[in-house]
Amino acid sequence: MRMLDCVNFKYCPRCGEPHLRSNDAQSFVCLSCGFTYYHSSAAVAVGIIKCDDKIILTKRAREPQKGLLALPGGFVDYRESLESALVRELQEELNLTVTTPNYLCSHWERYLFRDVVYFSTIAFYVVSANDISNAKANDDIDAFLLVQPNDIDYSKLAFESDRVALDRYRRLSLKGEIRDATVCPWARGMMSPQLPLLASYVTPETEGIKYAGSKLKLLPYILRLVREVNPRTIALT
Ligand SMILES: [Zn+2]
Repeated sequence: MRMLDCVNFKYCPRCGEPHLRSNDAQSFVCLSCGFTYYHSSAAVAVGIIKCDDKIILTKRAREPQKGLLALPGGFVDYRESLESALVRELQEELNLTVTTPNYLCSHWERYLFRDVVYFSTIAFYVVSANDISNAKANDDIDAFLLVQPNDIDYSKLAFESDRVALDRYRRLSLKGEIRDATVCPWARGMMSPQLPLLASYVTPETEGIKYAGSKLKLLPYILRLVREVNPRTIALT
C-alpha cells in the first residue's frame, strides 16, 4: 500500500501544489517544495479492567465500528505516557479510577475513518478498579458491560487487536500469571487523589518509603501500604 492511497491527499499542506509522490507506505513528498510528511503509527493505550472474575467491555458510540464491543482506552496525547493516557481515558470514558497499569502485550490496528486509513500501535494493560459503583458510560462509548473473559463473543468485538490481547489475557490467567493489582480492602474507600499520592511514595527500588517533611502526616498510611500490599503492584508515579 502506498501512503497516498491511505490518505487520498491531493495537495501539499505546505505550498498547496498538486505534485505529491508517495515515498513508501508511511510518507509522501511534495515535488514542488520538498516537504515530506510522515503518516506515523499513533500510540494507543487500552485496559483490561479486572472486576473479580469479570472484565469490562464497552459499546462503541462512534465510528469506526460503531455499536460493536471493545476494550476501553484511547489515543495518547502529546507529552503523555502510555500509563497516564490509559488512566485518563478510563476516567473520561467510564468515570473509573484504576490501579497502576500492568503491561500485558502490544499489537497494531488499522482504522478507516472518513475515508482515511490510520494505523496505531496499541499497548494493553491489566488494571483493577477499586470501585465500579459510580462507573458510567461517557465520551466515546454508549454503554459498558461486565463479562467473564471466557464468555466473550469474539464476533461482536470491533478490533482484531482486542482479540489478540484477550487471548493472551485468558492464556496467562489459566496459568495464574496475571498479576493481581487489586488494592487492599482498607484502601478501597480512599478516593483519588489520595491513593495515587500515597502510592507515589512507594518505590520498587527500596520497597520502602520516601517522604518529604511536609508529608509526614501521611506516614502511618504509607507504612500500612508497604506492609499490606506488594509495593510493586501499586507503584509508581
Ligand atoms: Zn509543497
